This record gives sequence, structure tokens and C-alpha cells, in this order.
Amino acid sequence: MKVLVINAGSSSLKYQLIDMDAAAVLAKGLCERIGIYGSNLQHKNLVKTISVKVEQQMNDHADAIRMVVNALINPDHGVIASMDEIGAVGHRVVHGGEYFADSFIIDGKVKEALKKCIPLAPLHNPPNITGIEACEKIMPGIPQVAVFDTAFHQTMPPEAYMYALPYGLYEKYKIRKYGFHGTSHKYVAGEAAKMLGRPLEELKLITCHLGNGSSVAAVKYGKCVDTSMGFTPLDGVVMGTRSGSMDPAVVTFLMESEHMNPTEMNTFMNKKCGVLGVSGVSSDFRDLTTAAQDGNEHAQLALDMFYYSVKKYIGAYAAVMGGVDAVVFTAGVGENDAPARARIIEGLEFMGIKADPEKNAKRGVQIDVSTEDAAVKTLVIPTNEELMIALDTKRLVEG
Ligand code: AMP
Repeated sequence: MKVLVINAGSSSLKYQLIDMDAAAVLAKGLCERIGIYGSNLQHKNLVKTISVKVEQQMNDHADAIRMVVNALINPDHGVIASMDEIGAVGHRVVHGGEYFADSFIIDGKVKEALKKCIPLAPLHNPPNITGIEACEKIMPGIPQVAVFDTAFHQTMPPEAYMYALPYGLYEKYKIRKYGFHGTSHKYVAGEAAKMLGRPLEELKLITCHLGNGSSVAAVKYGKCVDTSMGFTPLDGVVMGTRSGSMDPAVVTFLMESEHMNPTEMNTFMNKKCGVLGVSGVSSDFRDLTTAAQDGNEHAQLALDMFYYSVKKYIGAYAAVMGGVDAVVFTAGVGENDAPARARIIEGLEFMGIKADPEKNAKRGVQIDVSTEDAAVKTLVIPTNEELMIALDTKRLVEG
């Protein structure tokens, strides 16, 4: 089966066509500036290694999907003969609220529930829904599946997901911890079990998705029991531009002292804080590392704060699970930044966590970087959210 994976944003749409039988990505690409002057599609045929850029106006997501299908079936740079070769479409959906603890084949009821989740993710869910509706219009009859960033975390127990607010507010607004990056945490947990040669159902794993946005998850016997992001992706570890956890009283203090309204405060905490805010240099960890090496103390402080915040979650989640078999690093920083991994696990030898500096120096590959005598494995596993979406889509469509 060939699965088309779609990740629709408000003015962009990313896609991959994956041949599940050959376990190969046939083509991938990006539509940019949808509904804005200057829209274009960048398409890569990975079979023949051809890249093309098509500049054509896309007024809406249906136009974008039409362009994607045309690129996929194009005689020169396409990879399939006709749209009928697409067996199913898997959509990344940011928020599934409490409705979805797994991926789902999209029907009227699923769409209704998706719309009910809009207040929880007002910026992300509407374009995800627009992408689904565009595919339904352009590819009628091809099954569509929704795969949620939040679903994997729905197994958290109430003591982990509830906030200590009056209970009525949970009932009224569904304010609770949801967690994000679930597709990535689920994928790397599964891969970790394969690497360790043990059933996932026997393992206690701490998965660290460290990129521009970062989250850590405690995965006990295959189920998420806690994660660092919360009601929104703002909570948890220090991130590229997000503050991560802080005393909630800072929010009201700043709103009063800096005269910020709720929208401004929300934008501030999401876009101007994190390592960018502390360093004043960049949200990009490569820039920060360079600046710190050049003696920029604020860049070094930002990095130290990031490492420290991740380390705390590793300790906390080992306590939550009553032990840990492996710590898994993934995403841009987790996969590539060897010094970050080393600093995060530094001092955790007492827990049995110890990396071999030579093995840890590798970047971007799936590798066990632990020392021979480490009781707890440290694994680096490149994430593949698109493949996870495609696997879930195939599983559901094939019943
Ligand atoms: P992501 O959000 O997963 O795409 O990760 C993006 C982050 O990964 C950026 O902050 C990059 O600086 C960081 N990153 C990517 N490659 C490296 C590298 N070789 N060393 C350090 N950080 C990296």
C-alpha cells in the first residue's frame, strides 16, 4: 500500500508518499504561501532524485492538494501513474483532546469531535481540518486517517494529567495536561524496544524529544504515564523560544508590569523566551553552541538551563516508573548534539546511566551510546513521525 502523509499548516502543507511494502519514501515536498501571493510547491522525487519548484497560485488547501497530486502523477517528476495508487491518506492532527487515544479513520463523527477540539488548539486544528476536507474533496473514496500528537499521552493517569485547580474548571474547559510530540515518542519507544531486543510491554523508557520544541515522556510497559508538555506545548523543559515551566505568578506579574494583554503574553511566552530569550542570540542550538564557545556567557547559561531542565525530568520519570531501562534521545538536538546528550546525562552514573564518549560523538544515526557496564541504556534514535503516521494509517485501513 502507498500512503500519502499530510501535515497541513495555516499557509503551508508538507507531504510524503510512502510505499509501505518497500518501506521507502517515494516523494516528499512542501506547498508554501497557500492563500498568499507567491505560492509555490517544492517537490522531490526520491526514486530518481529529481527536485522541482512549481510556482503557481494556490488560493486554498484544495488547490494545494490538487498541485500535490499533479506533482505525484507528473510523467517527468512524478512517482505514480494515477491517484488510484494512493491507498490511504494519513493526516497529522495536533490536538485530539480527550476524544482520541488512538488514530482514527475519519468520518462525520470524527470530524465533529475534531471541531470540538478547536478551542484547545485554535492555531493548529483548523488548518489540520482544512487539509482533511481538501483531501476529501480532491481524493473522494480514498480513506483518510487522523493521527494525533496528543493521542499517545492519553494513557496518563489522572494524578499525572490533572492540575491542582478547582475540579469544576476541568469539567468546564477540559483544562488538564495533554502532552504533545506523541507520534514521535511512540515511534522512538517502539524502535528502542527493537534495539534492545525486548518486548515494549516489559520496558521502562524515558524518551527525550529535543528540538526547537522539546518534551520528555515516561513510557512504562508501552504506555505513556507522564510527559513534560501540558495543556499546551508551552510547559516543561526550556525550549528554543518557549519558556517551559515557571512559577505561574510570573505571568500575572509580567502582564501587570509590562502592560501585556493575554494574547501578547501568550505570544511572548511562546516566541520570545526559552534559550532565545535568555541568550539574546538565537533559538537555534548550533548558533548557541558557537556563541558559547566564543565566550558568550548568556548563551552558555541558556544551554546550561536547557540541559538542567531535561536532566530533572529524567530523574523525575525514573522515580515515577520505579526505574528505567533506557533513556532515548531524538529530534534535532537529541539526534545531533553530542555535547548536549553528554551534559544532560552527566552525573546520572548513580542511576546506571553512562555514555561512551566515542560512541556518543556519532550524530544522526540510530545507536546505543552507553558504556558496556551501563545498567541503563542511552539510545539515540532518529525520529520519523511521517513513517509512524503512515504505519498507523495502514494499520487502521487494513483493519
Ligand atoms: P527540530 O525542531 O527537531 O527540527 O530541531 C531543531 C534544532 O536542532 C535546532 O535548534 C538546531 O540547531 C538543532 N540541531 C540540528 N542539528 C544540530 C547539530 N548538529 N548540533 C546541534 N544542534 C543541532
